[in-house]
Amino acid sequence: VVRVPDESAYYKEDAGKILVGLFEPNAKPWAQNGIPDDFSFDQIPDDLEHCMPYLELAMKRVPIMENLGIETLFNGPESFTPDDNFQIGESPELRNFYVAAGFNSIGIQAAGGAGKYLAEWISGGEPPCDLWEVDIRRNEPFQNNKTYLANRVSETLGYLYENHFPYHQYSTARELRRTPLYQFFKDRGACFGEVAGWERANWFVPKHLVGKVDAEYLYSWGKQNWFDFHKLEHQAIREAVGMYEMSSYSKIRVKGSDAMDYLQFICANDVDVKTGRIIYTQWLNEKGGIEADVTITRLDADDYLVVSGTLCANRDMNWLKRNMPNDAHCSLFNSTSAEGCIAIMGPNSRELLQSLTDTNLSNENLPFASVCELEIGMATVRAHRITYVGELGWELYFPIEFSNYIAELIELTGKQFSLKLCGMHSVDSCRIEKAYRHFGHDITDEDHVLDAGLGFVVKLDKNPSKYGRFIGYDAVKKRQSSGYKKRVMQFLLTNPDVMLYHNEPILKNGEIIGYLSSGAYGHTLGGAVGLGYIDCLPNETDEDILSAEYTIEVEGVIEKASVSLRPMY
Ligand SMILES: Cc1cc2nc3c(=O)[nH]c(=O)nc-3n(C[C@H](O)[C@H](O)[C@H](O)COP(=O)(O)OP(=O)(O)OC[C@H]3O[C@@H](n4cnc5c(N)ncnc54)[C@H](O)[C@@H]3O)c2cc1C
Repeated sequence: VVRVPDESAYYKEDAGKILVGLFEPNAKPWAQNGIPDDFSFDQIPDDLEHCMPYLELAMKRVPIMENLGIETLFNGPESFTPDDNFQIGESPELRNFYVAAGFNSIGIQAAGGAGKYLAEWISGGEPPCDLWEVDIRRNEPFQNNKTYLANRVSETLGYLYENHFPYHQYSTARELRRTPLYQFFKDRGACFGEVAGWERANWFVPKHLVGKVDAEYLYSWGKQNWFDFHKLEHQAIREAVGMYEMSSYSKIRVKGSDAMDYLQFICANDVDVKTGRIIYTQWLNEKGGIEADVTITRLDADDYLVVSGTLCANRDMNWLKRNMPNDAHCSLFNSTSAEGCIAIMGPNSRELLQSLTDTNLSNENLPFASVCELEIGMATVRAHRITYVGELGWELYFPIEFSNYIAELIELTGKQFSLKLCGMHSVDSCRIEKAYRHFGHDITDEDHVLDAGLGFVVKLDKNPSKYGRFIGYDAVKKRQSSGYKKRVMQFLLTNPDVMLYHNEPILKNGEIIGYLSSGAYGHTLGGAVGLGYIDCLPNETDEDILSAEYTIEVEGVIEKASVSLRPMY
């Protein structure tokens, strides 16, 4: 098969003839109101006009075709999904109902693997390995909307054949889930990216260039057009103070007289803490693999808030529901859309926030991982002292309609503290420098919590809940006695001009031993930084591991890297 991505076509020999297949960028949705009952392995009427621009390119590419004529024009429907990934697994809405669909035109090629893993999933009752990218739980209910699907799949069909550049964003089905701050950020030069329908500011055109430079991605495999803008945001978080929005992050309220006991059963960390404390924890499966990576805040004796990534709302809710004992007095509520959240992070964040409130924000009064209610201007917010970027800072939570008032107030006051608006790309690069794990990339249901280096938040000796020891307890005990199987290593490329995105091969003494699970440009460390797992022997010391030579392969070139088992930043 010869593929020509730029021309949306592929070619192959087929029984002595030439076959041209098209994956046009403006595909036509079909059967939005259901497939006719009598339609089976059939065709739909030709639309030569629609295909002609691509067939003309094909005739230029293979000139002999110009005079051959078309013997068969086959127009067959195919199922496409909003993100070009399959829909596999147990439905989050109906126990024991398994799905294998949405194969995006590669259902024959993928059938062996999809069938094997789905069979194992059905017989084992859980995914046999990390299948998060294709897991049906990644979808939000709105993604079943017919108009949304028609708009988006018109693009995903063609995208299958395009160059998959880093940071690519779809252009269809956009501006769907906009927080009240959408226009605020847009006016200030935001370039938005989309996750689960949410529009999130990924980076900003600097103030003096707003209106002169388009807030749009120019994709490439090297440093993209926003590289220098990202640097300013990254540095603001490290050296001054950055403000970014976290309203799209998934939020679930767990309430009821059994909430503590229930979460104690779900979480590897101890949630029986004082009201007003924040706990960082993982939810484990029976193998010790990580099902979720969340912060949990005890808002009251019987009221907890679970916060995790934007894509995780459905998955986390599903895990909570399926593991809840029948007699538990405990309710779950997805409060994502109810509460807005603005983070202010960086060394100047305390002075900035202090200038807005009478509450004493000293470390003694408001230590790390604590929460308090603050009055800032006319708004009352819940300030969570926590960080995902490795700096002093607060996440401010409030009823979502206060978003603009609070953002404007912080922006105005922030001027004297060198506040900068920051996007999600700077959050990502800061967290990778600090080696904070990201669910879906660095930690998944197949990564044992101890191998992932997160044993420090696993509390084997906490009081068992009335529902028993936490899920995964035995697997942690077992791994504790048998020793690590792998470790997370951080890599900093020596050549500051080379980029990392994730999935690049890791070499140990010249042999490929794994791949990067995360990658971004670390402007403080001065180069591209990646995280990845390396296999190790149970009794291997840090010195043993570090004595080898590690390199990373980027676009076929072996790149030197410095490595560390602890965060370099
Ligand atoms: C022209 C064309 C070329 C393609 N080329 C390739 C290729 O080269 N390589 C590749 O990997 N893929 C290719 N594909 C895609 C591939 O065929 C699909 O991705 C794959 O067949 C999807 O498998 P599936 O099991 O999800 O669905 P299907 O193969 O559509 O199977 C669904 C089955 O369910 C049955 N069914 C429907 N409703 C009911 C019901 N109510 N009760 C019981 N049964 C029902 C249907 O009759 C059908 O047998 C091509 C597709 C087309 C149309």
